[in-house]
Amino acid sequence: MTSVRLPSIDRLLRSPACAPLQQRYGRDALLKTLRDLLDELREPARHGQLAAVELSEAVLAGRAGERLAARHSSRVRRVFNLTGTVLHTNLGRALLPEEAIEAISLAARYPINLEFDLASGKRGDRDDLITGLIRELTGAEAVTVVNNNAAAVLLALNSLGARKEGIISRGELIEIGGAFRIPDIMARAGVKLVEVGTTNRTHAKDYAAAIGPRSGLLMRVHTSNYSVQGFTASVPTAELAGIAHAHGLPLLEDLGSGSLVDLTRWGLPREPTVQEALKDGADIVTFSGDKLLGGPQAGLILGSRELIGRIKKNPLKRALRVDKLTLAALEAVLNLYRDPDRLAERLTSLRLLSRPQVDIRAQAERLAPLLALPLGADWQVSVEAALGMIGSGAQPVARLPSAALCLRPRCAKRLRGRALLALEERLRCLPIPVIGRIDDDALWLDLRQLDDEAGFLAQLPLLGEAPA
Ligand SMILES: *Cc1c(COP(=O)(O)O)cnc(C)c1O
Repeated sequence: MTSVRLPSIDRLLRSPACAPLQQRYGRDALLKTLRDLLDELREPARHGQLAAVELSEAVLAGRAGERLAARHSSRVRRVFNLTGTVLHTNLGRALLPEEAIEAISLAARYPINLEFDLASGKRGDRDDLITGLIRELTGAEAVTVVNNNAAAVLLALNSLGARKEGIISRGELIEIGGAFRIPDIMARAGVKLVEVGTTNRTHAKDYAAAIGPRSGLLMRVHTSNYSVQGFTASVPTAELAGIAHAHGLPLLEDLGSGSLVDLTRWGLPREPTVQEALKDGADIVTFSGDKLLGGPQAGLILGSRELIGRIKKNPLKRALRVDKLTLAALEAVLNLYRDPDRLAERLTSLRLLSRPQVDIRAQAERLAPLLALPLGADWQVSVEAALGMIGSGAQPVARLPSAALCLRPRCAKRLRGRALLALEERLRCLPIPVIGRIDDDALWLDLRQLDDEAGFLAQLPLLGEAPA
């Protein structure tokens, strides 16, 4: 081939083939993309390595269009969470109910009374937007909301225990995901950690013996993501509160997930409720908004008016406060708790958590032959019982009986690992990536959370095509 000349950038830019791209992405982005393309083609063109057609306006516009589309596509992608873990931290935890989504769009679109008291016309307090609901639902006197539960713990500790000692059982010095460790948070909050008892057993006398003139608070952390079994002992919250109050100290309880309802009603494992912790005498209770509560990411701090008042005066509160979208969603979610009878229908996360295994199995039976088709003879597709999890550290030992599509490669054993990884990647590369989990030489798609069956089916034909 002989060398060919590159088209001029001006001519390309004005060409009819590029007009729709300019319309869509703007002149600057188009110009830059065309320049990059031409720069890359200059050498091959000079050395005669390109056919003239590869430099035609139509072909160049097509390539520019692909690049622009790839670069402008959103980094935030919807996925199918078929891992079996419902409140999956890496996949965004709780899915919000429709009411909360509407509240978010209202708060995003219009000015709202975020810190404005409509009754008096005076400046208001953003926490007031949910205070009434929290009081009604939990009996707590006051509440303040921050960015997440980690922030709630940090803020509460710093407000009530800075430069004093915080007494906590050795069995509760936990680490949860993302490098949140109670001892580190205490240190950052300026609270001196005083550990009492042992990993498996802590008694009332251990706390009592540690209380002294420098004591600032007692702390209890719900050991949400691990369980100590066997020869164990811990002090019930009511008794611990008694010890704290006898010495004029507050008891802080970090519940982690913190449910507002007894989950056993829906056949789920028992999780301590916020109301119980308050009734037992915890002075401050903290929990997440996007775990079992089923709302947006947030950290709720509940307690007496006096203690919450001190927490709200801490300058850190300003740094950790939540935005209007979070508050709007949180109010809508809390509102659903007023009608516990319909909660499992309306609160998305609870609906998914309580979905009956027979439903999931029936769905799996429906889908198995349709998935087997594009996967072809190399894969065996079967419907299997599976055990899912709540996730986000709630009830780490409890399992949710579910059903899954189990995909087993038919190749020789030594090749299976690679085949599974390749299939996992193909599923991840679909327009709506499908996230499953590999276990026991198979890829498992737990269907507990497959609401959009049509969307899942629509992309199955793409699975049969060779990966790009
Ligand atoms: C999850 C959890 C936290 C942190 O909550 P985030 O809302 O994720 O910041 C803190 N403490 C306990 C016990 C938890 O389970």
